[in-house]
Amino acid sequence: MNATDNPLLDFRGLPRFDVIAPDHVTPAIDTLLEQARATVERVATSTAPAGWEGVAAPIAATLDRLDRAWTAVRHMNAVVSTPALREAYNSNLPKVTAFYADLGQDERMYAKYKAIAAGPALASLDHAQRKVVENELRDFRLGGAELPPDRKARFKEVQEELASLSAKFDDNVLDATNAWAHWVADAAALAGVPDDVIAQARADAEADGKPGFKLTLRAPCYLPVMQYANDRALRALMHRAYATLASELGADPAHDNTALIERILALRAEEAELLGYANFAEVSLVPKMAASPAEVLAFMRDLARRARPFAERDYAEVTAFARVELGIADPQAWDLPYASEKLRQRRYDFSEQEVKRYFREDRVLAGLFGLVEAIYGVAIAESQAPVWHPDVRFYEIRDRDGGLVGQFYLDLYAREGKQSGAWMDDAVNRRREGERVRNPVAFLTCNFSAPAVADGRRRPALFTHREVVTLFHEFGHGLHLLLTRVDVPGVAGLEGVEWDAVELPSQIMENWCWEWDVLRSMTAHAETGEPLPRDMFDRMRAAKNFQSGLATLRQIEFALFDMLLHTEYVPGRPGIHRDARAVLSAARREVAVVPRPDYDRFMHAFGHIFAGGYAAGYYSYKWAEVLSADAYSLFEEVGVLSPVAGARFRDEVLARGGSRPALESFVAFRGREPQIDALLRHNGMTTSS
Ligand SMILES: [Zn+2]
Repeated sequence: MNATDNPLLDFRGLPRFDVIAPDHVTPAIDTLLEQARATVERVATSTAPAGWEGVAAPIAATLDRLDRAWTAVRHMNAVVSTPALREAYNSNLPKVTAFYADLGQDERMYAKYKAIAAGPALASLDHAQRKVVENELRDFRLGGAELPPDRKARFKEVQEELASLSAKFDDNVLDATNAWAHWVADAAALAGVPDDVIAQARADAEADGKPGFKLTLRAPCYLPVMQYANDRALRALMHRAYATLASELGADPAHDNTALIERILALRAEEAELLGYANFAEVSLVPKMAASPAEVLAFMRDLARRARPFAERDYAEVTAFARVELGIADPQAWDLPYASEKLRQRRYDFSEQEVKRYFREDRVLAGLFGLVEAIYGVAIAESQAPVWHPDVRFYEIRDRDGGLVGQFYLDLYAREGKQSGAWMDDAVNRRREGERVRNPVAFLTCNFSAPAVADGRRRPALFTHREVVTLFHEFGHGLHLLLTRVDVPGVAGLEGVEWDAVELPSQIMENWCWEWDVLRSMTAHAETGEPLPRDMFDRMRAAKNFQSGLATLRQIEFALFDMLLHTEYVPGRPGIHRDARAVLSAARREVAVVPRPDYDRFMHAFGHIFAGGYAAGYYSYKWAEVLSADAYSLFEEVGVLSPVAGARFRDEVLARGGSRPALESFVAFRGREPQIDALLRHNGMTTSS
């Protein structure tokens, strides 16, 4: 099969998502792996003096092709999964992982990079290339290149098994989510739930050829039911189903992640031991900003201490409100979102669903693009490309002089076969290819409510303000990829950026969702077309930090659990904790304010740390929020729409990618080291004023 037969081997332009089929995966990946192995062999056995052109460049070129094809497969498996595609992905994953594991511990390649670092070639490298060499030496060490042969073989087995287990973990969560539905015969049982959510539940039932309403555990259904359904028993039922997803208490034992969790942790502990570290958290932190698990734990505990009084007040208020105003004598976990929303409506006099009527998708996108254009001096326009689903749109982003800088896909709506959550991924990274530069391409994926269909016509989708914030967040990741000016493989865009600093460009974007000058132009009421009234915006802002103490402690609970899990617990070894659940209990005892029901198995669906890249890294969200809040405070000082501050952020942070340490980029932008004050102020957690 050659490039014209197999779209995954066609690298002339954008991925051909309209024609990629499961059958293409194995032949393409086999071909690319064979080519990559041949390149590695040629480079590793070359007798020429080690230099950039002879070592880093050819390896980067061959990995680039493999990455682009594999990314396309992985992406499609995440957003339009079918049994055949999943099978193709899962059967190729071990081969790809094995290749990278081999490469990561190839002593000959390690020696080449050591020779570059120690030889005359180093002087001819620019600073981005030097950073790449530095990173390579670190990664070879972490990849097991210094291990003796028998340990190398074991290290590789560990990595391969970990990759498969992670994929299986995600599959279980997705399958458990898809398998679960609650059927409601009568709309009266859904009293309180917003009309558009009920309409979607009706449409979902109809799609299955059934009467009544189909409730699911996907976010656009689950969250509003928990927030608005007056029927307490329904909320309890949904809460239990959600909190037991993919656990031994879930609907189907085939989707139980319990054993996977223990196995993943045991393998990570073994990996750390092979590399000579005390625990997996130490390994995870080597390429991060934070210096040690102790530093991370101290940071989280300090923040927990500051947040605690606010969280206790939040909890006391909402439970008292539930008792006195809602007649719920013993408020439980499944009452809190409901009671919180009612309390918020009472106190600030608006509902999220009312606000949602103003956020029409077309206006929101125009507002987001307008903001980015104003601050960063770019232009965004819709364009055409082959896509994987008719709902996907494609855009390009140009510089002031009209030159193309990047392109992105936007895939906004929840649907079956799509992983939950929102994320940005790189389809193509920026690279220099001879005289020209290849521009980056981003995938922006969300799981928002799809447009409602009425009288055979699609109405514009409506987003909650929370969804708008999520969209801005992911778009910030996208800008990090798209506005990079680095074209050296390994440090362009998000490549090589410390994981705990990666949320800076995304989280800073969230701040603009709370600025009147940004919001007023991006709203139009679904029926009347009226913009969001100023007084409603003022109430939203007043409510911005509603329960921020509880939200902060919840994030710290996750982060602390993650860090304790990877420092204090090794399955099968005597120690402080009996199993992963005991670690979760310990984290909760230390920081949680809200009691959780015994059945709560949230960790069984905690893909961030068991299937994503956040293992011993979940703290990154809060860590980077210190950076993003402090960076935004410069905009607050000089004007939130200041193109001067925008240009500086673009030049010093977004453009630099991983070509220098994140702290250096931050200081270059802010003029000093990060401080926590802005984060506390933005979250309303200051005692004065
Ligand atoms: Zn993010």
